Amino acid sequence: METLRLTVFDVEQDKDSLNKAAELLKNGRLVAMPTETVYGLAASAYDENAVKNIFEAKGRPQDNPLIVHVSDMQMFTDVVGEVPEKAFQLAEKFWPGPFTMVLPRGEKIPASVSAGLDTVAVRMPENKVACELIRVSGLPLAAPSANKSGSPSPTTADHVLYDLDGKIDAVIVSDRCTVGVESTVITLCTNPPKLLRPGGVTLEQLREVLPDIEVDKAVLAEPEKGKPVASPGMKYKHYSPKAKVIMLDGDYEAFKSYVNANKSDGVFALTFEGEESGLEVPTVSFGHKENDLEQAAVLFDALRELDNRGCRLCYSRVPKKQGVGLAVYNRLIRAAAFQVIEL
Ligand code: AMP
Ligand code: MG
Repeated sequence: METLRLTVFDVEQDKDSLNKAAELLKNGRLVAMPTETVYGLAASAYDENAVKNIFEAKGRPQDNPLIVHVSDMQMFTDVVGEVPEKAFQLAEKFWPGPFTMVLPRGEKIPASVSAGLDTVAVRMPENKVACELIRVSGLPLAAPSANKSGSPSPTTADHVLYDLDGKIDAVIVSDRCTVGVESTVITLCTNPPKLLRPGGVTLEQLREVLPDIEVDKAVLAEPEKGKPVASPGMKYKHYSPKAKVIMLDGDYEAFKSYVNANKSDGVFALTFEGEESGLEVPTVSFGHKENDLEQAAVLFDALRELDNRGCRLCYSRVPKKQGVGLAVYNRLIRAAAFQVIEL
């Protein structure tokens, strides 16, 4: 199939493209759309066949549930079952934005959206193009990240096409994603509530509304083999470039000595911005050390750049686990398949 490029930078001026994308969605087709987190591969959440095609196009494991994107609170109540009052407080505070809640699944949402679970993950995105596409199509959109399953998430239309050209019906060409990592996911279906995946809304912010929220074990460590996980997506090696990634935990001097002592063909260093001097291997940077928002915005780009430049093995610096840094750490440790060397 040929993947249609639909340009939408301004929802008012580029109405034709937006309407075309909405029409495709109404007909059960797959459209990659920008959101503020990463590009999403969208299909109608009410259309079982379209949802099946999402899994197929991405090569996504069947047991990894999708997030349903809504544009207003009416659509939200349409897709969930009975929800606790807290859900509305959280929606008021963090929506629209990079924040997803797992709640009881509504009857209109087919089980396949949630990989058979009786819960559903819901988010209201802030990106204007995504909101308008949901609104114009009149459909809640099931949308995982628009990449090949396992590879770094896409933050531009070019990334989407690199992975999925010819496998999806259309891609909306628009501005790059501003947050750069996937949404924060919490579940309100456990007591106390749990953080399943860190993202653009931080744990510190969540604690203001949910003082008793717990962090699921899988956020920071490798899930135990064979044990069930609260968020199925967390058990997969994820976000990985083709290159092998190893995190080196220590200060910059120790990092530099280790990398220089282990240099060889195809070895790269993934550093913070401005740390390149003194390293005897090629470097790619992922934002300044103290700037967690910048790290999140460029991380997946940096992982893709490693592959483009022929990296075979990459030693990486370790981001701080505070604020959005927790999300950056969570993605990087998965890209590294949990390999960390203490220096
Ligand atoms: P992605 O679509 O790539 O952003 O991944 C969605 C993430 O949300 C995965 O880590 C899923 O495991 C998680 N998720 C989606 N729906 C549920 C659900 N019903 N229960 C628990 N986790 C979910
Ligand atoms: Mg994904």
